[in-house]
Amino acid sequence: MARKTFIAGNWKMNTTVPEAVALAEKLVALTGTTTDVDVAICPPYTNLAAVAAAIDGSAIKLGAQDVHWEEKGAYTGKISCAMLKALGVTYVIVGHSEQRTYFGETDATVNKKVAAVLAAGLLPIVCVGETLEERKADRVREVVETQTRGGLAGLSADQAAQCTIAYEPVWAIGTGETATPDQANDAHRIIRSVLAEMFGADTADQMRIQYGGSMKPGNAAELLGQSDVDGGLIGGAALKAEDFCGIIHPVGN
Ligand code: PEP
Repeated sequence: MARKTFIAGNWKMNTTVPEAVALAEKLVALTGTTTDVDVAICPPYTNLAAVAAAIDGSAIKLGAQDVHWEEKGAYTGKISCAMLKALGVTYVIVGHSEQRTYFGETDATVNKKVAAVLAAGLLPIVCVGETLEERKADRVREVVETQTRGGLAGLSADQAAQCTIAYEPVWAIGTGETATPDQANDAHRIIRSVLAEMFGADTADQMRIQYGGSMKPGNAAELLGQSDVDGGLIGGAALKAEDFCGIIHPVGN
């Protein structure tokens, strides 16, 4: 089935409010009313309101980089789904490898976040991917299967269909190293087969799987041309409007 390409920018811990607004305004000017590709940008929490205003009326959707699963209460420093929704957020990145590596994210916390995001009517982007050691030990299948099953456990097929999966090999994130198109497509196929076992072939066929890891204008078209690569989750290149649009446009034309 034809899955609409979905390009999302993860700005990570970059941009002050004025910098974020300037970047968002440039993106609006460059992407115009592109609708043949779904586009989202995920600035830091502090910039969501200002970026929401800057992209208002454009085709760009707003995303957040994380969320807490509880609805409210004594969770100092945390942000709830309702808070994000009230700011106009549509997508929430969950389980990014930086969260897993530095902040103790596990498949169990990913699963709680995914359930909370869906219950709030938001759309999760669930990140999975192996480290270099795991790849060298021939454990790609095992790692992405475990993370996919753990992160999406307990969902109905309808809920799963609302999720995007981002395959992000940890060794390719922010390193300039990119998975080859074949490596990416092989991992995406593994993930889709796991999704088919969990939710049925029809649902797996509908679900979008993004590739993330040093995607840039020069390698995007080839990666996005793979049969099971349905978009990109972009880190570094999302911070430069021309680069981000150079990833969108080869597939958006
Ligand atoms: C990311 O962090 O999601 C990512 C893909 O980063 P980069 O594009 O910089 O590798």
